[in-house]
Amino acid sequence: MCGIFGIYNHKDAANIVYLGLYALQHRGQESAGIACFDKSKVYSYKQMGLVSEVFTQDVLKKLAGNKAIGHVRYSTHGASDLKNSQPIVVEYQDGYLALVHNGNLTNANIIRDELRKSGAIFQTTTDTEVIIHIMARSKEHSAIDRFIDSIHRFEGSYSIILLTQKELIAARDPFGIRPLCLGRLRDSYVISSETCAFDLIEAEFLREIEPGEILVINKSGIKSIYQVKKTSPKFCIFEFIYFARPDSFMFGKTVYTIRKAFGRELAKGDNVEADMVIPIPDSGIGAAIGYSQESRIPFELGLIRNHYVGRTFIEPEPSIRHFGVKLKHNAIHDLVKGKRLIVIDDSIVRATTSRKIISMLKYYGAEEIHFRVSSPPTKFPCFYGIDTPSRKQLIASSHSIEEIKKYMGCDSLRYLSKDAMKHAVGDGDYTFCDACFTGEYIIKFPMDMSIEQMELFSDKTANKEANQTILML
Ligand code: AMP
Repeated sequence: MCGIFGIYNHKDAANIVYLGLYALQHRGQESAGIACFDKSKVYSYKQMGLVSEVFTQDVLKKLAGNKAIGHVRYSTHGASDLKNSQPIVVEYQDGYLALVHNGNLTNANIIRDELRKSGAIFQTTTDTEVIIHIMARSKEHSAIDRFIDSIHRFEGSYSIILLTQKELIAARDPFGIRPLCLGRLRDSYVISSETCAFDLIEAEFLREIEPGEILVINKSGIKSIYQVKKTSPKFCIFEFIYFARPDSFMFGKTVYTIRKAFGRELAKGDNVEADMVIPIPDSGIGAAIGYSQESRIPFELGLIRNHYVGRTFIEPEPSIRHFGVKLKHNAIHDLVKGKRLIVIDDSIVRATTSRKIISMLKYYGAEEIHFRVSSPPTKFPCFYGIDTPSRKQLIASSHSIEEIKKYMGCDSLRYLSKDAMKHAVGDGDYTFCDACFTGEYIIKFPMDMSIEQMELFSDKTANKEANQTILML
């Protein structure tokens, strides 16, 4: 869960990346960073915090050079810590190299252990640093050849931008799990996780980078290389459900349109009688509009979100998350009083947010609450970069819908079915990874591990980090 952005050949490269990151802030709010290259020097700045807090005019002025990359982070591998923020900038045999990464390498810990045994020293606990180490050990003599030489070692999801003094390289894993797109801003090429960043800087959206494609942008222009075996794409369906911005175009569709289609599907065959449909803002809005249009039950904004609070769930500390629910939402008392409500959210993870919202709506006099979820029950952890952690934190992996309904305190609970979800994303070939709902993981786990071992493995990493003694404050 991160956002990445890069630009090649622009006199205000750092400023453009700053704006790009601003538009991608929803993809990560823990840290932000930019690395900028001019002919002979590399400038890099990263800090914990939001883009607007990290970059002042003074900092941006110092980030000189005509090519730059940037990153906003929400940690899914490695602790939330400055040392793990990106870009990672290194000096190696071929000069300087900067890297930003969105996704999760499922075999990162295995490669890391191998490298450690052979004497490698790590500065971070991220999977991203492993990429740099593998590239640095390649016998090839340019960043692109080193990358191509290394790519077969990486398993899992990755959308990556690499910057050298000569070129910008963008690559997407063979399944295209995380998004990545290419745009043009007059004479410059831009790369972004999502197209909403192109709209902000008034760049033209050219196309999505293809699954398995490596793009090299340098002074000779742009070149596309395919070095991995062609597979059928497996885009992350959760980007459509929750993560991406509704105004972005990804995986060939506009996110908002798909969210509305989820809502429409959810309304089909749902014969509950109600006075109004209300979304949990912002994540439930698109689906609630679709539901309301299909069911002809009026849409109302019964819950108001405080926009000065970030994505509640995105705060990694459970205590903050718990507190954040009340900070974030309030109900319009006289609108909901005495009403039969259909309340819509995009997903249920732990059910803590939804439970509190239901109790607040009841407190303000809602007569009935019918909770509707515009995705199937989230039962399985994601190992490809979305923070739906282990099954013990996912209420639907150990409870029936009836039990979840009781826990949440609503009058009825209904999820979108898997078939309806597939129908909503289009009738053609289904090209999505939906392992979080089905448990059908598209990439074999390293060393034939089971889900239990994968979960344990991640937990162990977390414990190791909690016990480590080098802490950057
Ligand atoms: P809860 O009611 O506690 O299960 O929280 C559900 C809310 O968390 C929904 O509004 C979702 O939009 C949001 N959510 C779902 N998955 C994630 C995720 N991986 N990271 C952050 N927020 C999420």
